[in-house]
Amino acid sequence: MNISLFTVPDIPLIHEGDDIAAIVCERFDLQDRDIVIIVSTIVAKAEGRIIELSDVTPSDRALAIAEQNDRDPRIVQMVLDESKEIILKFPFLLVETQNGNVCVNAGIDGSNIDGDRVVLLPEDSDRSAKEIREEIFALTARKVSVIVTDTNGRAFRDGQTGVAIGVSGITPTRDWRGQCDLFGKVLEVANEAVVDEIAGAANLLFGEGCDGTPVVVVRGLDFYAEHEGLRPIHFPRSEDVIRDAIAHASTQETG
Ligand code: GDP
Ligand code: MN
Ligand code: MN
Repeated sequence: MNISLFTVPDIPLIHEGDDIAAIVCERFDLQDRDIVIIVSTIVAKAEGRIIELSDVTPSDRALAIAEQNDRDPRIVQMVLDESKEIILKFPFLLVETQNGNVCVNAGIDGSNIDGDRVVLLPEDSDRSAKEIREEIFALTARKVSVIVTDTNGRAFRDGQTGVAIGVSGITPTRDWRGQCDLFGKVLEVANEAVVDEIAGAANLLFGEGCDGTPVVVVRGLDFYAEHEGLRPIHFPRSEDVIRDAIAHASTQETG
């Protein structure tokens, strides 16, 4: 077995309105079943999801949280605006975004953007992945998968990795349940989050800094599927025991 990862070369600085599918197709000869992995930062830039900090007026609530967490109240205000649920308020904001992804600060990022500006996550990364995939097909007639990623921290472990926050043309997990192990025992829980594994591998080539390499192609994996969205990877609320435990602990703290 053998897979290849390629950096798509010479991607320019991305601005609102740029056509990411076309930019990729002009620079890389895609084949059927390639997986195109794109950092959310450039998807968001192309979608104009950039906020000028001086345009944000923090509410009293944002001011209070910012003071407790020693953060910029304008960033806190944006995090509140982008979030459906606050899971942890202190010592940092862990939230569920409107889109259903759980991450710190709603993924709002001040890196790789100039001036006093920050980049939000794409409004709906699944939709972005779908649109880019459809446009790649329109331009090249290639059937590819698309994964939009962000770099996230993890619970329990230091260090960040790439994770998938929007997908199209790929099933998010590889389900091993019902298959046998080496000794014939039936696997009962193994459901491998392949889109996160691919995002992590691509992140090795993206880097986090000034490399300017926001698009990677993975070739040699056979995961293409006519499937839209990340949804099966998010726990249904009723099975999300860690979220319940955090909520329980916070209630006890505050009485
Ligand atoms: P995130 O993981 O989505 O938050 O994105 P990062 O800010 O970590 O950036 C990942 C990679 O994309 C790095 O190599 C950055 O230099 C690169 N990058 C970010 N924005 C741009 C851009 O507008 N153009 C290019 N060419 N690269 C970018
Ligand atoms: Mn980010
Ligand atoms: Mn990153």
